[in-house]
Amino acid sequence: MSKYDYDLFVIGAGSGGVRAARLAGQAGKRVAIAEEYRIGGTCVIRGCIPKKYLVHASEFSELFHDAKGYGWTVEWASFDWPTLRDNVQAEVARLSGIYETNLKRANVEVFEDRAALVGPQAIKLTRQEKPITVEKILVSTGGRASRLMGLKGEELAITSNEAFLLKELPQSILIVGAGYIAVEFATIFSGLGVETTLVYRGDKILRGFDDDIRTHVQANLQRTGVNVITLATLTEISDAGDARLVTLSNGMRIEAAQVMFATGREPNTEGLGLIEAGVQLTERGAVAVDQYSRTNVLSVFALGDVTDRLNLTPVAIREAVAFAETEFYGRPLSFDHRDVPTAVFGRPHVGAVGLTEHEANKLYGDVDVYKTSFRPMKNIIAGNESRTLMKLIVHPQDQRVLGVHIAGPEGPELAQLAAIAVKAGLTKQQWDMTCALHPTAAEELVLMREKS
Ligand code: FAD
Repeated sequence: MSKYDYDLFVIGAGSGGVRAARLAGQAGKRVAIAEEYRIGGTCVIRGCIPKKYLVHASEFSELFHDAKGYGWTVEWASFDWPTLRDNVQAEVARLSGIYETNLKRANVEVFEDRAALVGPQAIKLTRQEKPITVEKILVSTGGRASRLMGLKGEELAITSNEAFLLKELPQSILIVGAGYIAVEFATIFSGLGVETTLVYRGDKILRGFDDDIRTHVQANLQRTGVNVITLATLTEISDAGDARLVTLSNGMRIEAAQVMFATGREPNTEGLGLIEAGVQLTERGAVAVDQYSRTNVLSVFALGDVTDRLNLTPVAIREAVAFAETEFYGRPLSFDHRDVPTAVFGRPHVGAVGLTEHEANKLYGDVDVYKTSFRPMKNIIAGNESRTLMKLIVHPQDQRVLGVHIAGPEGPELAQLAAIAVKAGLTKQQWDMTCALHPTAAEELVLMREKS
């Protein structure tokens, strides 16, 4: 009989924590998990899932427009935000319930409470006096939306958390930031008919993505009505009755019914007792871990967004699987963070895997680049000017495809499949040997012959 109350205590029931707890429970370990908000974490409650539903909703306006060219008359279309919001929230509640059931099926004890470390092998729950002793602790507390602290009127802005629950759809919104969350919410709100402005301090949106993709998406957002203001920061937000008045560093003043910060996310490490327990943090305040998600303290592990490696749901899940395999199944496993596909559900959608042209050039010298831009067949009759951009980055010597970047309606779906080929290290010649599937947009990926 173990001298500890539990073999594993997981703090945070999000994508990573839930998977790790379930796998440890299924291995016959005595496992508990604490969640201070709602089971399912960011992805299920206020991230990937509800966001994707809002993206779907926002795309109907373009579909209604395109339908005309195909002979449809859409005489009357109106949109009701509370219906969408409540349907999405009902689905979120259903999924959260499934997560909870799955935890209980794996014999994981669930505490709906905030937890913190009190030493390297003890946990304190807010609503429980006596500390719990544990053999191993897994910190999977995720991240939180950053706010522009110090900005005058900062408290008047919302973040993505509140955007899902708005009482009413604003007539106008000013979104601060230009990462994937900012771009996705600009797509959502503008698609739903909200006058949308994006303000970004840099010169081009979607930093970190391939340069051509960034240019393409920014131009398309602007062409479809999003007001993109670059090289500007906020100097003040003030209350103007029903609206907010935003002053920018370039002297512009913009009135908007809502202001939303999408200025990045910070690891959730505050008040967790980590430093007191001797756990090292990185400069950005994330938990420092090795490739097995081990911290410098033997009994404490961390994974997912709180470690700030690659902040995506499937990554948190794979890190959790590797952790459980290593610690509870006797099969040491670490997750390879290279060639992880990623998406931006913007307008158009973006799917990408592997190196950008810039990154590849830095590593391998002058890489081979293949590029194509075209109007997807569906858009031609529809009179829709949106174009698709596809780009392959190829190793100059061994001809491996190092990166695939797609901005177009099926970009993320294609990137998932392209990721198999990139991960497998297939060469451009092997891509070219693959027969096209006609008529699709995807066939262009195996038909690019001219280097650009
Ligand atoms: P989380 O899922 O954040 O879970 C952490 C949990 O810990 C939370 O439930 C929190 O309440 C809880 N917690 C924190 N502190 C404590 C404490 N002291 N005690 C108890 N509980 C605590 N990723 C994708 O892959 N694709 C997408 O399309 C995508 N879209 C996104 C859209 C938005 C708007 C956001 C915000 C994120 C999105 N992400 C997306 C990122 C994804 O949600 C995260 O990478 C993922 O949820 C990380 O999982 P995690 O287990 O590390 O943490």
